[in-house]
Amino acid sequence: MSEYIEREKLIDQLLPLADASAKLHDGIMTAIFQVKNQPAADVPSVVHGHWEVFAPWGSKKTVICSECGNYSPLAGEYAYCPNCGARMDKEENDNV
Ligand SMILES: [Zn+2]
Repeated sequence: MSEYIEREKLIDQLLPLADASAKLHDGIMTAIFQVKNQPAADVPSVVHGHWEVFAPWGSKKTVICSECGNYSPLAGEYAYCPNCGARMDKEENDNV
């Protein structure tokens, strides 16, 4: 299974190491150059959502997807929205 990393976050972690060591500076800067010149993978971004409690018509409790509004009595059992694919790991107050 392929794994992906964020280029800028890696570079942000490598730069202080290059600055901290004269011995390692050139090697780390070469690594940063290589990281910057790698082609980007075509990876779709992950949508994060959460289940919101919803009780229409006074009937039994159900949940709706915070991202697409899909509702289902069983949807809250899923880690992903079966309609839009949002990953249900976002807290209600997250601003991400
Ligand atoms: Zn959804």
